[in-house]
Amino acid sequence: MNRIKNDLNIKRQAKELGVSVWQAPSFLFLMLGAIIIIIMTAVFFFARNETSADYLIVIESFVAVIILSVGNVIITNMEKLAQVNKMKSEFVSIVSHQLKTPLTGIGWDIELIISNYKDGLSEKQIEILKKIEHSNAVMTRMVNDLLDVARIEQGDLSLRKDKINFKEIVQRVIEKNRELSGHSGIEIVVSNFRSDLEVSGDEKKMEVVLDNLISNAIKYNKEGGKVFITVKEKNGKVIFCVKDEGIGISDEERNGLFEKFFRGDSASKKSVGGTGLGLYIAKNIVEQGGGKIWYKTVEGKGSEFCFSVPVV
Ligand code: ADP
Repeated sequence: MNRIKNDLNIKRQAKELGVSVWQAPSFLFLMLGAIIIIIMTAVFFFARNETSADYLIVIESFVAVIILSVGNVIITNMEKLAQVNKMKSEFVSIVSHQLKTPLTGIGWDIELIISNYKDGLSEKQIEILKKIEHSNAVMTRMVNDLLDVARIEQGDLSLRKDKINFKEIVQRVIEKNRELSGHSGIEIVVSNFRSDLEVSGDEKKMEVVLDNLISNAIKYNKEGGKVFITVKEKNGKVIFCVKDEGIGISDEERNGLFEKFFRGDSASKKSVGGTGLGLYIAKNIVEQGGGKIWYKTVEGKGSEFCFSVPVV
């Protein structure tokens, strides 16, 4: 019902798509419907009194021309929108690529100063450098997210099929998130699982999925809460789950959860940083790799996000 209401809000749709009202797809669609109804009604009344086949053929041709003309306007507008969308993805991809190189350079230089030239620096200087290093890591992550989104939109995610040691990769991502969990006193509890467990997937992208889910479980947890990680094997798949004791997700927010740039109200109120791209990217990577992603949640109590991945 809500979808129909949204579709009929022509002014809003035109504003969202950046086109004038008469170019909005819903407006053109309604116009086409109205024209067909009016003409068909006119044909009905006309045909009742007019038995000549010639007249009917002329009227039918006239109807066909009108329908084709309106259809042509709709298709041309759709083509324009698709072209603009493609250009936007290409633009995002080019800018992200260009930003990645200097950001990586800055990261390496700061690391070099902190590790090799620490003795000549005061504590305050080291503290400032660590802050720069952190901001650089945040920006690098955003740029990587944008690159992944552009690749998904261009249908160019091209996932590799590596043999991944699942325990090693899970441990690596947990270590990466230690600082984040340490800030809010969150404990990460990992259930025991086979250390020789191997899954099939793209190692770098698998790291992105795990990182998004584990960092969310920390970010949206309560102060001093726990994060539980479990890994199980079932029917030739590995099922990874991460559970938190945090804010949970409200009914209204569930619809948009895996959409691009979606950020829940409670998440924004908690003033946790984020772009709303993590779950969108994770879902695309998991599904294109032959797995599934799902979640359970209780508002105010916590959530559990799981995904499956094929075993080698
Ligand atoms: P981000 O975390 O950058 O906002 P995500 O795509 O990872 O982006 O998540 C989208 C939204 O889903 C979040 O803003 C938050 O509202 C909600 N969300 C994701 N994970 C959790 C979680 N574990 N608990 C509660 N809400 C969550």
